[in-house]
Amino acid sequence: KTWAQCGVDFKTLQVLKRFSYEKPTPIQTQAIPAILSGRDVIGIAKTGSGKTLAFLLPMFRHVLDQDPLADMDGPIAIIMAPTRELAMQTWKEANKFAKVLDLRVVCVYGGVGISEQIADLKRGAEIIVCTPGRMMEMLAANSGKVTNLRRTTYLVLDEADRMFDMGFEPQVMKIVENIRPDRQTVLFSATFPRQMEALAKKTLKDAVEIQV
Ligand code: AMP
Repeated sequence: KTWAQCGVDFKTLQVLKRFSYEKPTPIQTQAIPAILSGRDVIGIAKTGSGKTLAFLLPMFRHVLDQDPLADMDGPIAIIMAPTRELAMQTWKEANKFAKVLDLRVVCVYGGVGISEQIADLKRGAEIIVCTPGRMMEMLAANSGKVTNLRRTTYLVLDEADRMFDMGFEPQVMKIVENIRPDRQTVLFSATFPRQMEALAKKTLKDAVEIQV
């Protein structure tokens, strides 16, 4: 399959070409059309499989399809990751495309001062890449005036097994519960331990499962 056959648009194709992403990897070939169809997706795939672009490319389509005139702020898409390193790496990858598509991606993670990240969010962002603890802080900051989940309709839980192992389930669930039920949810994980089934059941609806 080619990128175009996966449903990737012209502008995105230009970026893929520029960064020499010649053709989609197996997880991308399977996940991108499923996500573009609007379904919730569980992808079992390791780092190195190309999982990041598998959820980023349909996310851009989703974000661009929203009504730009709708009078709402707050992110349209949220990507949650277990560590600051992963969040930053995903932000970097997302930004290659976001610049060309004229979208704003902000990265928020703990372990550093919050004020600069608050300033970033206040300038506006269609997409937030975050770690769960700092995202909770952001939602509570300044009585909810920094950011909100009212407009969020695309949610990614990346490396869900690691978020689970690191004990972030309560924070993840708290955030998820406050996102609109009519959202689309995508979960990626290297493994799918039994204990994650409950989280998946509470978070995803009638999900397509993809394993590579
Ligand atoms: P990931 O599994 O998302 O962490 O991606 C692993 C690495 O593969 C990253 O360095 C990506 O830039 C690269 N990559 C992702 N998709 C492709 C592709 N279709 N062709 C070539 N490289 C890719």
